Amino acid sequence: MANWAHLQPAITQEARRLGFDYCGFAPVREAAHADFFAGWLAAGRAGEMTYLERNQEKRRDPARLAEHGAPPFRTVIALGVNYHQFDLPPAVRDDPSRGVIAAYAWGDDYHDMIRPLLYELDAFIRHHTGRTTLGKCLVDTGPVLERDWATAAGFAFIGKNCCSINLDDGSWHFLATILIPELLVADAMPSARTPVPRRHGTCGRCVRCLAACPTDAFVGPYDLDPLRCISYWTIEAREVIPRFLRPAFGNRIFGCDICQEVCPYNRRLRNRTPLMDALRAHQERVAPPLLQGFEPTFPYWLEEAAFSERFHGSPVKRPKRHGMLRNVCVALGNWAEPVATPALIQALHDPHPLPRAHAAWGLGQVLAQHHDSRAGSALQRALESEEDGRVAEEVRLALGS
Ligand code: SF4
Repeated sequence: MANWAHLQPAITQEARRLGFDYCGFAPVREAAHADFFAGWLAAGRAGEMTYLERNQEKRRDPARLAEHGAPPFRTVIALGVNYHQFDLPPAVRDDPSRGVIAAYAWGDDYHDMIRPLLYELDAFIRHHTGRTTLGKCLVDTGPVLERDWATAAGFAFIGKNCCSINLDDGSWHFLATILIPELLVADAMPSARTPVPRRHGTCGRCVRCLAACPTDAFVGPYDLDPLRCISYWTIEAREVIPRFLRPAFGNRIFGCDICQEVCPYNRRLRNRTPLMDALRAHQERVAPPLLQGFEPTFPYWLEEAAFSERFHGSPVKRPKRHGMLRNVCVALGNWAEPVATPALIQALHDPHPLPRAHAAWGLGQVLAQHHDSRAGSALQRALESEEDGRVAEEVRLALGS
């Protein structure tokens, strides 16, 4: 069987030209955390992310991802794109009147921009090897344990915060993979002689991420329970956020970076411009004032068209407008200032029950802390007219009745 390992430098150079910060190669074999992941699923950690339960055997062994009759995959090309640009100034990050968005979503949606680049890189390889079948190009779109392959490829290690961490650039990166049938590494088979990746690091005794998590989402080092994680609830979940978790969300309205912000590997980084232009931060998507999206001139939390326009091409669209308004109502409840009452009353009349339930909670917080009569009256009226049982229960609890 031909070995194309001599192509590694050219592929790495081409990956760099396309905008990838990291590129490495690993033989296809059983994923290192396949058993851990199976146990994680069995423990019910996936929550509403039921798509993670599909294709478990393929996730374990990427060779199974080849189409029927196509040559088996022998090499994983792991790729990374660094999106770190600047640290959020504490004055902005800790301002309860602002809604903080996770750094990965400050630019445009990375799926849309990375996928065509993977196809381009695969075409480059095919041009050199003469292959006629396509490689499998995946960016969060297929059953692969990306962090395992980034580790095996030698440019990252998995930290206690469960993030993939690069020794020089920390954890602010997206991962992608291309599976190809060409043998591009010295050893295609799992073996004790498989070379140890060059750039492994370790968390050592550091547990800052575990201690900093406001929701106690870490069961232990390297073990995160998404059902307690702000990122899961504000991005993935379509459901009502558990009441006991809401106060810990603070002003995080889309994702959470806390366990990355405290990581020592991320604390030394300088401001930088991402290699991929589309990843550049839109300043208005970093930490918008919470009340801004309720203003009549451009009510993007209240109207679908305005929301689509405001977040065109952004990952923030994933939970949809009603999911984001849910998150904003929680942040407004944590702010709990009477200036937020009119916005929360507007959300209490939203056509979707999800924001209504959380608006009731937010109004309950303002009522409890400031005895704001407008909040109390709005809740009282909602109690008389609300037809959704879950929302009505939130209203009752907000009124303390
Ligand atoms: Fe905790 Fe936030 Fe990290 Fe989730 S993202 S584990 S909530 S610190």
